[in-house]
Amino acid sequence: MSPAVLYRRLPGEGLPRFIAEFRKAAARDPFGTVFVVPTSHLAREIVRRLGKEGSPLIADAVTTLPGLARKVFLDHTAAETLIPKIGSRLIIDRLLAAGDYPLIARAGAVDELATLFAVLITRKVDYPAALGDLASAKSAEIGRLFAAYLRFLDEHRLVDESTLLARATRLLTGSDEFRTVYVYGLFEPVPLERDLLLALRESAEEFHYAIPYAANPAVFADEGLWLHPDAVVEDERTSAVAGLFSRREMGGGGEGIRLAERRDRLDEVRAIAQEIRDLAAAGVRPGEIVVAFPDLASAVPYVEEVFPDFAVPYAASGGRPLAASPLVQALLLVLAVPACGYRRSDVVALATSPYLPFTRGSELDFLSREARITAGADAWDERLAALARALEDELAGPDPAKDRLTAEIASVMAAREQIRRLFADLATLEGTKTIQEHLAAYRSLLDTWRAPAMPAEGDPRVLEEEARDLAGFMRALAMLEELAQFFPNEEVALPEFFSLLSAHVAGARTGRRRNADAVQVIGVREAAHLAVPYLFIGDLVEGTMPRLTTRLPFATDLETRRLQTRSKSDILREERYHFIAALLAARSRVYLSYPAADGGTPLVRSGFVDAVREAFSPETWGGDGFPASRLSAARRAGALLARGEAASPPVLTAAEAVRRLNIENYHRKGGYDSPYDGLIGSDPALAERFGEEAVFSVTALETYADCPFRFYLERVLGLAPLPPADPGLTGEERGSLVHRIACRFYAGWRRDGNGAVTEASYPDALRRILTTGREEADRFTFTSPSWVAGKEHLLGSPAAGPGLLERFLRHEAAVVGSGLIPQAFEVSFGLPVTAGEADPASVPDAVAIALGCGTLRLRGRIDRIDLLPGGRFVVTDYKTGSQRPTLGEVVAGRALQLPLYIRAVETLTGMQGIAGTCYTLRRGKVQNRPVFWDAGLQDCFTCFPGSRQSGVGDVRELVEASLARVKEHLAGIRGGRFPPRSDAGPCPGYCGFKTVCRFDSLRLLAAGGEVNADGTD
Ligand code: SF4
Repeated sequence: MSPAVLYRRLPGEGLPRFIAEFRKAAARDPFGTVFVVPTSHLAREIVRRLGKEGSPLIADAVTTLPGLARKVFLDHTAAETLIPKIGSRLIIDRLLAAGDYPLIARAGAVDELATLFAVLITRKVDYPAALGDLASAKSAEIGRLFAAYLRFLDEHRLVDESTLLARATRLLTGSDEFRTVYVYGLFEPVPLERDLLLALRESAEEFHYAIPYAANPAVFADEGLWLHPDAVVEDERTSAVAGLFSRREMGGGGEGIRLAERRDRLDEVRAIAQEIRDLAAAGVRPGEIVVAFPDLASAVPYVEEVFPDFAVPYAASGGRPLAASPLVQALLLVLAVPACGYRRSDVVALATSPYLPFTRGSELDFLSREARITAGADAWDERLAALARALEDELAGPDPAKDRLTAEIASVMAAREQIRRLFADLATLEGTKTIQEHLAAYRSLLDTWRAPAMPAEGDPRVLEEEARDLAGFMRALAMLEELAQFFPNEEVALPEFFSLLSAHVAGARTGRRRNADAVQVIGVREAAHLAVPYLFIGDLVEGTMPRLTTRLPFATDLETRRLQTRSKSDILREERYHFIAALLAARSRVYLSYPAADGGTPLVRSGFVDAVREAFSPETWGGDGFPASRLSAARRAGALLARGEAASPPVLTAAEAVRRLNIENYHRKGGYDSPYDGLIGSDPALAERFGEEAVFSVTALETYADCPFRFYLERVLGLAPLPPADPGLTGEERGSLVHRIACRFYAGWRRDGNGAVTEASYPDALRRILTTGREEADRFTFTSPSWVAGKEHLLGSPAAGPGLLERFLRHEAAVVGSGLIPQAFEVSFGLPVTAGEADPASVPDAVAIALGCGTLRLRGRIDRIDLLPGGRFVVTDYKTGSQRPTLGEVVAGRALQLPLYIRAVETLTGMQGIAGTCYTLRRGKVQNRPVFWDAGLQDCFTCFPGSRQSGVGDVRELVEASLARVKEHLAGIRGGRFPPRSDAGPCPGYCGFKTVCRFDSLRLLAAGGEVNADGTD
């Protein structure tokens, strides 16, 4: 056994001396000298430093403990195979599938079991025996699987990343391969790592082990005695920073530490970038700066967005997750489509991907929504065919829009053909096959498609990234193929193969180009032992640092303690160590920071920040401005241009630049007053489309009343939001189904000489309405659970109780005392009249309603008209949604339907309207409620629930007031006034233009009282 010297050192202390000693030893004995450090980042840094000094090194002479184990293994064993993490997962997955493990086989179990097994192996836990009296049926099952897993490795001569340490230990025992060993900075090695270190110690002639240590038991618990050192060299030096968390009085130290709270993560990274630019201006080289984050992967996207804006050159240490690559996502989609049952969203994503050879993807998106496709290969064909048939029927009907329908039918047929060909290709991937066969089919399809399509030109940075992503993905496929040979005859279904490949890809990362002259962006754990002139540590919030995730998968807290794996206090100690080690890495200055919020969610700053504050009272850093940001500079330049204090950039005239700035800074502030807010002014085209001869629907007028800008988008520009991808009835369809049933029932009921539904006629009425309801509902061929439930709620069942139709009739019988007789249903005007489908009172021409000095030509369909003796009538509107007009909205001119329909009937018949009612017909509520009624007819209307507040003195006056508002709306439309809505509250949920509209409620609030009802000031 060699004499082992143990050095107890502050983290980072004495490393240059170790490196120098190693260099000398490596020069003497290059193949027998090894230097083990805790991170690959530090290993690379040491190699770089030695390379700069011109010291030649053999590969892997400076390495991590797992790196050393891998090297030993690969050098010595030809008969065994080292498998990556995905191999372990694959084995566990196959063992679970083949065996009887009812208590642990569940979704997500494979990853958790892989983690558990790694802990059990590296900590040499005798599982489940170590549980003692805590053992259970579940732990016995896990124990069986664990034993099966280890057996599988043995039988197939495989070594995973955990057992690799034991294998390397065995190979090194008794060998004299490493004669001089330097180990620096490992923090509390786990038992299997200790075994490997002890094997190295036993076989080496010289063994130098530097342990990170300070007299602070809250952090440094490992004194290295397990190594049985022959000599111990204590570090004379002390550090106030190393005493952090010890509850000792610090009495100074921490001079170079600064602290900042920033608004959010983006603001924090921008502040870091600005400080780096300030340091650079003072002569600091980017390579002298390190930025560390506790969770590097989640911080990198911020860095990628911000650092280029500040022109900060940087190199991030962790590669990008392969799964985050759009190219890789497109390639995985090829499998996802058949594996996940041809879901609409997957197929559309596949067809619109620029990496795959398809066109017409956007059209497919639209048509599949129209055809109500949600998933299923057969459903795609059937529903597209049904859509084509429906369009053909429409084409054959009265008044067809021939050109549009013909083009749409052709488009549906083309989409159907494209889907057939695409699904025929994808069908080659389906079925149960061996993993090799799955891979072969997948590769063959990609070859056939010549996928992925890689652009020949473009941003070189993006092209390089895509090439790297593709290479990484192909490597992942090759690795899976290699592993698959251990299961040559085992067949898996496509979804299993897909989830296996996805999991493999999720764990893989693409490499990054290294650049020592750039700012290094690393994880906090990688900062230990580096000598960094300027160090930033960001995102210091609870849950990120410290991250106290203790739970061992499949183990309770009690079981975790019994297994003697890491407790919460062990993890806290480790997190504290990494924080202190990172602080000690900074030679000149360390900038700490934390975001105060994540979007609207406040964040709690890390307790480590408080510890630093208490101990060292650090200065703050960072300011409000970002002068080095190109974006900020562009904004400043714009402001100068606007004030005429700067020359215009060569590509833009000053006038043009000022015009653009004014649009944002002047016109889009305060009340709506310019064309940029939809005030486009009168136009001959508007006059032609919306002039005296134009026919309006109530919906169009109400749209204008609610939001003129929505009217502009819908009715002037002709835009429409994408139809919802809804597997059941849309709100509109549900409404027309209920309307049709009520209309057919009453039309037949009245034709047969019946009056209002009474208690006596109720049983017969119920039988008839249910028959009609069933017939109408059966016209839909949906099979979704929501449709089945919806049908039950319409028709009723023993389980669901009385249906909507039954409750409708009960309500009808309850208000029979009003004396109103249902008379006409679905009365239309200004719409095509189809015999048998419209009420006999319907007329094809629009109704001309006098508006004083003008006329409104109105079209529409009235759900129901009830009569009172003496030529008086009530208009009723059925509502199946939750929206219902109020008297206030009628008075304000926003709810126009009932007053306009009353005037239309009066114009057509000469009768007198006495009320407008809204009949709510939905699952939770069936109620006919007068929105307004003639207060002189108490006897008639007080039997309606909720009618007390809505009696009005003069219905005719109310209707006239509505017509006056209509006149204003028509003037607005014809005058080209289309501002967004003037209500500062949130826009209605049903507006489909929210994603393209620049409505800003804060703008209206800021404009205060200057804004008129139509939004203008
Ligand atoms: S989002 Fe609001 S302002 Fe914009 S169109 Fe819709 S309703 Fe009008």
